Amino acid sequence: MNPDAAREAHKTIVGSTDLYANVIDAAGQYDAKVDSSANSSLAAHILNAVTVGVNAFVYEAVGEDESLYDYEEDVRVLAAALALHDTNKFVREAYDVDVDGNTSETFDWYFDPEPADDGTDREGDPFGIEEFLGEGYRDDLQYLVQRTELGENSAELRGLDTEFRGLERYCRIGDSTASVALKQGSDGVYDQLSTLIGSDDVQRIEFTQLEQPILNDTLLGMAKEVVAGETGDRTYGVVIGSSSDSIVYLGDPVERSELKEIIAGHIPTKINTEFEFDCKLGWNSFDYDILGEIALPPDRKEKNIREAAEDLLLSGSGRDDSFESIPDDFAEYLPVLIKAVYEDGWKEYPTEKLTNAFNEVYDSIEGGKSTKGQKVKVYFLAHLCKNHEGYKSDLKILREEVQPALYEDLEPEMDAIGTVVDRFFDGRIAPDLGSKDEMCFLCGGQTDTKYQKGLSGIYRTQEYSRRVPPHAKYKSICEVCNLEYALLSDICERHDVSTNNSLEIAYFYFDDFLGDVRVRSNRVGNIVQGDGDELDDPEVASSLFQPQYFIQPMYVLDENHRMAVVRQVMEAARESGMKVVVGRPFTRFESADAVFADEETTRPQELLGLDEAERFGPLPSFVQDDRTDSHLRRALQLFKIMSMVGQDANMSNPYLQLDRDTFHSIADFAVVNHDHAVTLSDLEQYFETYHTEALMDMKTVAERGIDLFGKQFDSKYKKTKIFREALDAFLSGKNQQMDDDRLIEYVESQVYAAADREDYAGHVTTEEAAAFVAAIHEYLVENDLYDLKKLSDWENALVNSYYYAYEQSL
Ligand SMILES: [Zn+2]
Repeated sequence: MNPDAAREAHKTIVGSTDLYANVIDAAGQYDAKVDSSANSSLAAHILNAVTVGVNAFVYEAVGEDESLYDYEEDVRVLAAALALHDTNKFVREAYDVDVDGNTSETFDWYFDPEPADDGTDREGDPFGIEEFLGEGYRDDLQYLVQRTELGENSAELRGLDTEFRGLERYCRIGDSTASVALKQGSDGVYDQLSTLIGSDDVQRIEFTQLEQPILNDTLLGMAKEVVAGETGDRTYGVVIGSSSDSIVYLGDPVERSELKEIIAGHIPTKINTEFEFDCKLGWNSFDYDILGEIALPPDRKEKNIREAAEDLLLSGSGRDDSFESIPDDFAEYLPVLIKAVYEDGWKEYPTEKLTNAFNEVYDSIEGGKSTKGQKVKVYFLAHLCKNHEGYKSDLKILREEVQPALYEDLEPEMDAIGTVVDRFFDGRIAPDLGSKDEMCFLCGGQTDTKYQKGLSGIYRTQEYSRRVPPHAKYKSICEVCNLEYALLSDICERHDVSTNNSLEIAYFYFDDFLGDVRVRSNRVGNIVQGDGDELDDPEVASSLFQPQYFIQPMYVLDENHRMAVVRQVMEAARESGMKVVVGRPFTRFESADAVFADEETTRPQELLGLDEAERFGPLPSFVQDDRTDSHLRRALQLFKIMSMVGQDANMSNPYLQLDRDTFHSIADFAVVNHDHAVTLSDLEQYFETYHTEALMDMKTVAERGIDLFGKQFDSKYKKTKIFREALDAFLSGKNQQMDDDRLIEYVESQVYAAADREDYAGHVTTEEAAAFVAAIHEYLVENDLYDLKKLSDWENALVNSYYYAYEQSL
């Protein structure tokens, strides 16, 4: 076992090439399986297979005293073969050709696809295999791919002499493990690898998944580092992958208590380097906040207070002027000054000179006692900053007196990180419920700390109480949730999301089980509301693979804005090939079967079927099935139509105007609000794909109408006149409770009479009238509109959808 080899291998294939980004780009929008109860994107499955296969190869093949460079070609060939192991599925989805297996024909489609139906050329090799590996390997790759799946027909290349024959084993390990992972998660991965490699080498560690998703991901990440030898003194093995509560690796077993001890020792520094913590300092107020609650070296905390105070002085907040810079030989005293002036509210200072200065500043402020009392703090600070040369020895004395007390303040009363580690290793899923007064309003754990954190949306809004009803002005929060809050605030800041608004989290994840990629990347992509090109960046692609789930905070202003955000989340999911669950912060991440799941869904979403998507795209055409699974492609097309129409009409809330996904309601919405609804190709495609029958039926109605009434070219009123006459007759007949036969006869006669009145040439026949009415009757029955109430509710919408079909038929 070679501890550096896995890291080097990942650097070779993930960190320094576009392979992962290309696969995500080309195959992220397709489904891996027909069965959507165990689904991920095709890209996620492919990359899991690549990762697991390469990790297993590295574990077995690279000796302790060897370098990965001796195997670099093998690693690249293996990764390329695994990237291509589902080429038949990819080709079917991308080019809609029904190829059977990974044959030469299939490979030709992948490397040199035929032009599209409209004659445009298609670019070959969308995963960039030859750029990654070099040319001249196609036969070797096909040889390996044909031996990856056991059922595959491999007769075609039986005679081929390839030097990469030894890699067959790892192709099978990669693909079969990734397939099992889809259905059976980390348990299945463990069993599968035990069978293929031997149970002595396969290890699985289980944890208790924390209620706090960011902390959970951080601890899980550190556990993988310990196993891989990146943290601690020894290497236990090569990590194969993880789920949110377990790790599977190849190597030696690790003692649980030992692992816990190593993590407990290193996690504070890790949290401290990966996240920024802030105290809360305003011109008139100060609170240690999270700084007082986590165990960090005191000088690190002092630095944080110093920076906050520098920012305060630089901003000029609370005063009339600001500083351009803060001299270092004054700034070093800021932490003790904040403690004395803000935290303790001193009026008397250790030297007379300081006390006098404080009083002079106080007297110089205009206004009443309370104004003076408030302003004096920041004014005193500014005075000392401006004249610090004259206070050198006084400030030194002040520091000697105040610093011990400051350090005492910063010493945490509770060890939040220790509690987290305990819960992760030994915890129960639901912590002990305290009595109402001492229950954490976020996780329900026991606590007696009360917090008031001002503006933050989480503390302000009562809706965040998931487990405990809000019963007091001050909410109790446990030290673990408070720490999670500090991490969340930092993530929000990096994503440019304000915590003052109502917050939700989109959890993006490839699958429950994620093949482990040990590449360090510091970039945080903002994949919602971000730059659309970001996912093509290999660094962002690798940073998506680093955590178990990618946490994307998002703020929500109102229902329409939420719909717009959901649209972006769905777009990001399709682009990244990741599944997504939208939920609250401070809730344990729960994966879903569906590709898109929304735990906070709204009524407008439900009405339009935008609350869930079971798949990335539609079921393939070769699947004979009556199922009509929901999928992202349809949802995004509907969003696009709403947005196009909304823009044309200058709507402020375009996503709330439509309440049904039916042909006549969408046609009505478009015709009423868009000047050129009938020529919108997106709309036409949507109807043709998802409302085929209703569109056809209404077109039949329109054609019968044209037969009867002739083509009308002037007003919309004229074009729809005969259809309105017919609907009015249906309504009036229904009103008189006519039975069906009589009703139809009645409508026919009314329609005939109306057409005849305007028919100057005298061509109208009763047969034409009957055919027109029969077509309308069929549409109404098929679309469940054939009763008085529905008919009168939908009359205008039907007229507009008739108009749409009429124009299409001309
Ligand atoms: Zn809590």
